[in-house]
Amino acid sequence: MKFLKKYWGYVVALVVVYGWFSGSLGPNVLVVLSAVAFLYSLFQAPVWCCAETRNQEFCRNNASGILMGCWIREHRWQKLKWFVRRSMWGRLFKRLFSGFHGVAASFSAVGTLVSASAAVITLIIKT
Ligand SMILES: [Zn+2]
Repeated sequence: MKFLKKYWGYVVALVVVYGWFSGSLGPNVLVVLSAVAFLYSLFQAPVWCCAETRNQEFCRNNASGILMGCWIREHRWQKLKWFVRRSMWGRLFKRLFSGFHGVAASFSAVGTLVSASAAVITLIIKT
């Protein structure tokens, strides 16, 4: 159960994928599930912090979600600043992609965002 507690968002993301391919879930359900899994990737998925430490390396403390830093408050601010400055996104993603969890969380974030948008469009077209 500990595993589920930590990775439940990915389970939701898998349900979303299944929903799209099987056609068994309505677009309104898919919107909700995609949004939940998207927020999970941003704020709860286990990833490395990836902020820059004093000796030019990146921080490998555990963080919750790709938007959040670790327990060091400076790191959280640093990451927030990075997200505002788009020129820093490449750097951040390169670091996130050097760890398995970062890759999983990034793909999940992008995938569920696309899925949520597609589901919203489906809803608009249908009504
Ligand atoms: Zn950190």
